Amino acid sequence: MYRNKILFDPLYWQYLFVPWPLYLDLNPCAYACAYCWSNLDGKKQELDLQVLKKQLDFIGSDWEIGEGIAAFLLEKKYPVCFSPTSDPFAPSNEEAFLRVLELLEEVNLPRTYETRGGRLAAQTLLAEPLTAISIALTTDRPDIAQKYEPKAPCLEERLELAQALKRQGHFVEIGLNPLVPAWWRDINGLLERLSKMGLTHLLIQDLNLNLRQRQAFPFQDDEFLTYAMKQSKPDWQEIWAVKERAWKLGFYVDPLYGSNYAQWPDHYFGEYFRMVDTWVPTMQEFFFLLARQQKELGKPIYYSAADFTAWADLGFDFNSPSFGNYLGGWSRELGRSGKGIWAQTFSEVHRQLFAIYNSKTPFWAEETSLLCQASAPLFDDQGAPILCFDCLAPRRDFTELDEATPFRGRENPMEE
Ligand code: SF4
Repeated sequence: MYRNKILFDPLYWQYLFVPWPLYLDLNPCAYACAYCWSNLDGKKQELDLQVLKKQLDFIGSDWEIGEGIAAFLLEKKYPVCFSPTSDPFAPSNEEAFLRVLELLEEVNLPRTYETRGGRLAAQTLLAEPLTAISIALTTDRPDIAQKYEPKAPCLEERLELAQALKRQGHFVEIGLNPLVPAWWRDINGLLERLSKMGLTHLLIQDLNLNLRQRQAFPFQDDEFLTYAMKQSKPDWQEIWAVKERAWKLGFYVDPLYGSNYAQWPDHYFGEYFRMVDTWVPTMQEFFFLLARQQKELGKPIYYSAADFTAWADLGFDFNSPSFGNYLGGWSRELGRSGKGIWAQTFSEVHRQLFAIYNSKTPFWAEETSLLCQASAPLFDDQGAPILCFDCLAPRRDFTELDEATPFRGRENPMEE
């Protein structure tokens, strides 16, 4: 019945959005949310501790890292996220997860979490060293919870967990993911309540399913499926209003990039970085830094893919075809441009993602434009465009070279 081997894997699809670069998938999640991508994709697998143990044996050994991105990240002890694909505290995972945790404690490998809570969540997480924990809230309507998340912990239980973890000092993110406005009776009341509880970080994401997931959906619900398949949501104004309201209440809201936080004391993950020993690049921090440099230098800031690679340095000084996986989320757009999702090095990943005119890659923001000289776009010696960031004149396509100043380079919390 079980087919796939579960291994520590790079979190390719969240690169530049979250500062934990690894994750571990777990057993199929018994919370069985009807809209869950992971379950709709029909995964059949079972955690095998012996297999994981072998992977962890790389840590501290003399083994040559070679081409393995996961092995490299494990060796450097970057945090592992449990888990964007299966809740560690779902009954199907409880026991196995606690045994994995023991293995990780033995090799001192840090953890971060994404969860909807569960029987063992509070006692396990309160015993963890300070870390990042994202807790998803989806509805305050019992009928909706019963229909789409019948086996997951209720809203009050999740809120209680969030508050206890925040009080403990963890970096707690509340995920309104997915956010479907119709699933909430009182979303403004929820925001006020979260604010009073001292919670400060909100992740807000639409509900989206692809055609394959739609076909695997467990019951007939045409209204839901029509909504889930729409790329541009008919209630986008309501979603936007929630983001704006949260922002006005003083929450960090992800994704709200660009210069939104230029006047704030820190970027989205600043609080988390002060708790841990590892640093991983995110666009939230990069754009925050660009805005700060623009404020100091008085001009828009331009940067090449090589500048970004130097700033984002994780020590990936080897070649591997696996780097192409970091481009997977943009395969359609990059394929259209004729380049495909091919990268042998870390810097090639960034060069490909600099093609912001082909798609909204992570380097795209309303404040970004192409750097030009006499109206002709400038490129680096490998053919990637040079980009420019300007908080004061967003939504323009080009910025002239003599209006801008170069990126000043590396400033990351681990160096200070
Ligand atoms: S809790 Fe998360 S992983 Fe589990 S079924 Fe629900 S959405 Fe999927």
